[in-house]
Amino acid sequence: MMPIPSAIVTGAGSGIGRAIAARLSQDGYAVLVNDLHLDRAQAVADEIAVAGGKAVAVAGDVSSETDTANVYDVAVSAFGHPRLLVNCAGIVHQALFENLEVADFDRMFAIHVRGTFLMTKLALPSMLAAGDGVIINVASQLGQIGGIELVHYAGAKAAIIGMTKSLAREVSNRGVRVNAVAPGPINTPLVRELSQEWRVRKAAELPLGRFGEPEEVAATVSFLASPAASLFVGQTLGPNSGDVML
Ligand code: NAP
Repeated sequence: MMPIPSAIVTGAGSGIGRAIAARLSQDGYAVLVNDLHLDRAQAVADEIAVAGGKAVAVAGDVSSETDTANVYDVAVSAFGHPRLLVNCAGIVHQALFENLEVADFDRMFAIHVRGTFLMTKLALPSMLAAGDGVIINVASQLGQIGGIELVHYAGAKAAIIGMTKSLAREVSNRGVRVNAVAPGPINTPLVRELSQEWRVRKAAELPLGRFGEPEEVAATVSFLASPAASLFVGQTLGPNSGDVML
C-alpha cells in the first residue's frame, strides 16, 4: 500500500491555517498541525481525527530555529518527510509609519519572512531528493498593493512573494513547485484585530462586496497542491474579493 502523503501547515491553530489543515486532510493528506500554542494546534488535530483524518499537533514559533527544527522532526517521525509545506503562520499589527517601532518591524519580518525561510530550509531537501514536492506560501494582497498603517506587514508579505518567485526559479525543474496565495480580507481573528474604520473602508473598496471565508482560501491552496496545478510555478493566486486584479 502506498503511504499517504503528508503536509505541514504552520499557524494552523486558527483561521486560514486551520481551514487549510482541514481541507488538506479531506484531500488525503496526513497533516502536521503547527501553532504557537499547543492547545490550539491540538484542537485542530482532534477535529481532523474526529472527521476521520490523520493529524498530529506540535507547538512551535516559526521564527525560532530550534522550534522549527523540532516541528520538522515531529512531522517526519509521525508521517515521514512531507510532500507539502504550507507556510501560513502570521500576525498583524496596525500603526502609522511614524509610530512604528523597530521591534514591531523586526517581529513582523521574523514571523513572516524568517519563519517562511526556516521552514522551507527544513522541508526542501527531502522534496528535492524525492524530485517531488509543493511549497505554498501565504502572502497577502497587501503585499501587492500596500496598506495604510501596514508598512511592515505589507513589506513582509511582499518579501514572501519575492521569495516564492525566486525559489520557484531555482527548484521547479527538480520537481518542486513553489507558489503563493495572496488572500484579500478574510473573516478570521487576525482581520478583526484591524480597526473597525480600516475594515469598513476596505469592505467598501471590494468589488465582490464582502470579505472571504477561510475555506475559500483553503480551496485555492488545495488546487495549488494538486496535480491540476502542474503548470503553476512561482505564481501568486489571489482569492481576494477583487481587491487586486492582475
Ligand atoms: P489567525 O486566525 O490569527 O491565525 C494565525 C495563526 O498563526 C494563529 O493561530 C497564531 O497563533 C499563529 N501564529 C502566530 N505567530 C506564530 C508563530 N510565530 N509561530 C507559529 N504560529 C504562529 O490569522 P489568519 O487570518 O488565519 O492568518 C493566517 C495567514 O494568512 C497569515 O499569514 C496572515 O498574514 C495571512 N492573511 C490573512 C488575511 C486575513 O484577512 N485574515 C489576509 C491575507 C493574508 P496564536 O493565535 O495561537 O498566537
